[in-house]
Amino acid sequence: MENQEDNLFKNVISHAKEYGFIFPSSEIYDGLSAVYDYGQNGSELKNNIKEYWWKFMTLLHDNIVGIDAAIFMHPTTWKASGHVDAFNDPMIDNKDSKKRYRADQLIEGVIEKLEEKIEKEIEKASKRFENFDRAMFLSTNARVVEYQKKIDDINARMKDALGRGDMADLKQLIIDLEIADPISGTKNWTEVRQFNLMFSTEMGSVADDANKIYLRPETAQGIFVNFLNVQKTGRMKIPFGIAQIGKAFRNEIVARQFIFRMREFEQMEMQFFVKPGEEMKWYEYWKEKRLQWHQALGLGSENYRYHDHLNLAHYANAACDIQFNFPMGFRELEGIHSRTDFDLKSHEKYSGKKLQYFDSEDNQNYIPYVVETSVGLDRMFLSVLATSYKEEKLEDGSERVVLKIPAALAPNKVAILPLMKKDGLPEKAHEIMDLLKFDFRCFYEEKDAIGKRYRRQDAIGTPYCITIDHQTLTDNTVTIRDRDTMKQERVSIPSVKSIIQDSVSMAGLLKKI
Ligand code: ATP
Repeated sequence: MENQEDNLFKNVISHAKEYGFIFPSSEIYDGLSAVYDYGQNGSELKNNIKEYWWKFMTLLHDNIVGIDAAIFMHPTTWKASGHVDAFNDPMIDNKDSKKRYRADQLIEGVIEKLEEKIEKEIEKASKRFENFDRAMFLSTNARVVEYQKKIDDINARMKDALGRGDMADLKQLIIDLEIADPISGTKNWTEVRQFNLMFSTEMGSVADDANKIYLRPETAQGIFVNFLNVQKTGRMKIPFGIAQIGKAFRNEIVARQFIFRMREFEQMEMQFFVKPGEEMKWYEYWKEKRLQWHQALGLGSENYRYHDHLNLAHYANAACDIQFNFPMGFRELEGIHSRTDFDLKSHEKYSGKKLQYFDSEDNQNYIPYVVETSVGLDRMFLSVLATSYKEEKLEDGSERVVLKIPAALAPNKVAILPLMKKDGLPEKAHEIMDLLKFDFRCFYEEKDAIGKRYRRQDAIGTPYCITIDHQTLTDNTVTIRDRDTMKQERVSIPSVKSIIQDSVSMAGLLKKI
């Protein structure tokens, strides 16, 4: 099963390259590790995902506005946010395979295995007992209790070691758990070292430490430092949100899963400013809203789940992930965090500027609390691409690869295909294209047999193909072919627009939320 999934993932990656979605960065120089470029179809899909997010935030919520802050920020920003001191991952190398790992992820791997064992016991028992009571089983079955205790002990030791920054203790935990390198199979580990994930560079011509600046590791801080600018100029009343889409950079220790973990990536973040004490209400609200946004895409509700954080970051009083069932299993797609007043308070302290809100209803000043929703654009892209990718066997014995991308996100909405390159068919096809191109991204193609052209459109996820034949010239009708059902229908040219409008428009998708 695992191999099948691995193969599928490999096929998705090579399909993404072959059809102009994603290329390795600077490939002619053999690429750059964990950096990718989006091709002609990839950038359209990516733009459509951005539009879906941006419109959801700023059109469907009249109290959310968007900004576009610079990537470079004053270096003190990152002192205040805690990134200079605490944005570290513990890394460890295996001396035999020379491979590098995140120490915490090696330990989490052991926890995951124990959790799988518990799930297996539950599955077995639920088949055996008619009135199976999960909670009762978890607390009484000796094997399960033992596994759970192990998980709790490991978690507690890891949290303690990380909390104290005690890397020797973290290494000891790896030794005690007898973790072996999956590649060399040995336990020949180096010491654990802390590694700061921020990229730095120098600004200006004098390369001394005073000029050191960072590439932002998250977009959120650009919102916090602009909190008052936006609140005052937009006359925003609490609760309100500021949304932003932009690049972030992290020097990830382990970045091996295609665009899932990159060193340069994009985030779509929204910080929602609320009255202190009301943050849990809004945290629950955004948890639900964000899941609805994901589910409206139709990739299957069973592919999403919440994962509550037990080990909270220093700034949070509640946090959870929306995980997605990626080709390599359930992993974080989006984070929802109740960040308290940590960021604004800290920027007040470091900048010496007041970052408070005057609440005219209560007649008081306060630093708002913040609920953040943060989703990786590239991870969204991977979730859409990998789930849409289907290898299908057709009734006539042939095969096709089709990307069943949600129609509103597809790079092209319509392909315009004259059956032949003569008899005035291309001219008629261009006339139809001129009718549609202001509303939909159209793709024109007249080369090769029509069957081949359909397959190429399937492979890039075009929801509709319109074929212009000799009959078109006499009765003003075309055939319209549906990507998913492959059904073809004869329709009049003036009706084409209204037939496809609803299923491919962003408004249609947003209405499903
Ligand atoms: P992870 O635990 O997977 O490293 P994180 O908890 O560090 O992620 P956040 O800091 O909460 O991630 O960032 C918010 C979102 O940004 C994540 O949910 C993810 O979708 C995206 N993201 C974070 N790091 C990367 C990366 N290296 N490459 C691509 N997307 C990323």
